Amino acid sequence: MKCARMSGLYIHIPFCGSRCPYCDFSFVVRKDHHAERYVKALLKEFRTRTAGNRPQYDTIFFGGGTPSEIDPRFLNGILAEVQSVADLSSRIEITAEANPEDRDHFYPIRESGVNRLSLGVQALDNESLKALGRRHSKESALAAYDSARCAGFDNINIDLIFGAPDQSRLDWENTLDRAIELDPEHFSVYGLTIERDTAFDRRRKKGQLPLPTEGVQADMYEAAVERLGESDYIQYEISNFSKPGKACRHNIACWERQPYLGIGLSAHSFLNGCRTWNNRDLMAYIEKVESTGLAIEEEEIISDESEQLEQIMLGLRRPDGIPEELTRHATKLDDLLESRLIERTNGRIRLTPPGLLLADLVCAELVKEL
Ligand code: SF4
Repeated sequence: MKCARMSGLYIHIPFCGSRCPYCDFSFVVRKDHHAERYVKALLKEFRTRTAGNRPQYDTIFFGGGTPSEIDPRFLNGILAEVQSVADLSSRIEITAEANPEDRDHFYPIRESGVNRLSLGVQALDNESLKALGRRHSKESALAAYDSARCAGFDNINIDLIFGAPDQSRLDWENTLDRAIELDPEHFSVYGLTIERDTAFDRRRKKGQLPLPTEGVQADMYEAAVERLGESDYIQYEISNFSKPGKACRHNIACWERQPYLGIGLSAHSFLNGCRTWNNRDLMAYIEKVESTGLAIEEEEIISDESEQLEQIMLGLRRPDGIPEELTRHATKLDDLLESRLIERTNGRIRLTPPGLLLADLVCAELVKEL
């Protein structure tokens, strides 16, 4: 049996109680009666993909969907199976994404071995939560945070979203202040983006989505960077802030392009220089795995050019940016330096504070014509 070094294992749990109007993820609403069959398929895929190896994992990440939504015995069963075929590092980080309304599951989730909880709080004012179509209230989010601590989680991430319909800068600052008072180890802070073919996209097209202006959204992001910085959270990626030593190791490994195996519906993997994507349709995924053990839909062998693009796009999101060497063929480099969206420091190129707000655009300019 070969011992394969793998830094991470991603496990996709695609079920959600209802669909948020901004969500375009691959997931299934209220179909958790398929959960048992899905988990069986997922474990079959895991056994197929690790056959002949004894993988070693430093991190495991249950993402979704909402992993906290399904019966916790499924997460327990998955982790037991993973441990039976893999070696887990002594400092394993096992994260599960969770929604506040599932707080009764937090204790058994912690008991199963999950040691980091990523809580989808999103906002701490009821108007913004309602506008985002979330099922929880400010009060239940606060209660869920307490439940997570009582369950023994000493490493908690709070997810927040700014730029909800009708949200004011003051609403957002109140959310930030209240969330910081909770003293979690980590924050992920995202601006609301309107993805194609979502309910929000349809409302926007009809002129029925009163979003804060781009200027207000930029102020909201700046307020987050400022307040979290003042409260000793280190910004280690555009959207991620942690207390010292509490950065999410799973995500860092992905951004550093270390190998990981992803199992489950629509899961991506990056192994041996090859990226693969699983089928995105629940029943097709289950049936394919039941018959063949695998459900890979596409694969891409990463060429030197793709590798360079990935290094730029992932590296620019980090505070220390990328080696300047990577941008030697970027035709827009001087324009971006001149407009002060990026800067040069010690042989590296990194985003400036105004550049952070326009990161996607700056990346697109830098990789143009590469
Ligand atoms: S809880 Fe998350 S994954 Fe589920 S519908 Fe809402 S945004 Fe999408």
